[in-house]
Amino acid sequence: MESDSSNCESVQVISSTKKRPKHGRLTDVNKKLKVQSHEIGKECDCKRLQCSKKIPAEGKRDIIKNFNLLESTDKQNSYLCGLISIVPVKNRRSRVDEENARLRDVVALYKIRYLHENKLNELEICRDEFIALHGITKRRIEYLLTSLKNTGISPIDKRGKHSKRPLKLSDVTLTFPIRGHSYMENDKNMGIINQKARVKTVKELCDLVQSSRKKPSPFVVEHLSEDNQHIFQQWTEHLNKFYKKKASFPIQSIRQFEVSKEHPRLIKYRDTYNGTWISAVVMDRKSVVLKNLETNNQFLLPEISYTGPIPISAEKFANLQSLKKFCGKEAQDYFTSLVHN
Ligand SMILES: [Zn+2]
Repeated sequence: MESDSSNCESVQVISSTKKRPKHGRLTDVNKKLKVQSHEIGKECDCKRLQCSKKIPAEGKRDIIKNFNLLESTDKQNSYLCGLISIVPVKNRRSRVDEENARLRDVVALYKIRYLHENKLNELEICRDEFIALHGITKRRIEYLLTSLKNTGISPIDKRGKHSKRPLKLSDVTLTFPIRGHSYMENDKNMGIINQKARVKTVKELCDLVQSSRKKPSPFVVEHLSEDNQHIFQQWTEHLNKFYKKKASFPIQSIRQFEVSKEHPRLIKYRDTYNGTWISAVVMDRKSVVLKNLETNNQFLLPEISYTGPIPISAEKFANLQSLKKFCGKEAQDYFTSLVHN
């Protein structure tokens, strides 16, 4: 006992660090739990192999226990693949004619191994029992089979392991069609709404917009509330901080322009669809957004623009009050309730 305790003292590590101990992230723990807590599913009722009856209860228990001891999806997959053999179909029995038959070029055979009374048993079982015994899904089997058929080996789990994903966009080119020849998507949408319809209240306007289109889907009118105030943000003020206030080139005549990751301070433009590109500087060298983009690809979003209804002028309100007598009750109430200065 004594020697034991002195031994203990010598290996005791005195920790002086104030760092919070690392216990791992909750997501990692959950992932591990998910990978290692398979449960036996519903046993098969196949007539051909009568699998379930052949395997003793402790055999089933061992199979699921050992499977759950494999701590990664990769290990589990290669274990499962080791128990699946792929055999080419030799002759097809023609119970169904060629056109209607499920033409399979290979069949998969499933087996299991387990110890029973110190003896290793290996036996063929059906797919359903294979799924049940390991508590896995049909989809996982299909995934394994695809990998085995295509590569001959078990699949390698790629989830969450992209070390370096390419940036989604490296450049953007915007092409302006010639007016009169075609319309941009939102012009088409505005064109559908009947501009001559008589509308007095916001509710009537919403109804009009919502009923303007049937295909491919009706328009959705978003009602502003505290939850979606971010629809309107102070983008002008925000962008003014970074970009030159006035472009150094005429915008009206531009047919195409392009921005690229390579030269974030420049805009390339041309006033024909196949002419030479001209470039112009649109961003100051010391721009804050540039610095941020270089360091962490992020910037703060601008403030929201409105926190409630925008008041109309006192004069406009007075005019509306004298004109509302020509409207119905609902519209009159609406005009009376308008927020104004
Ligand atoms: Zn079976």
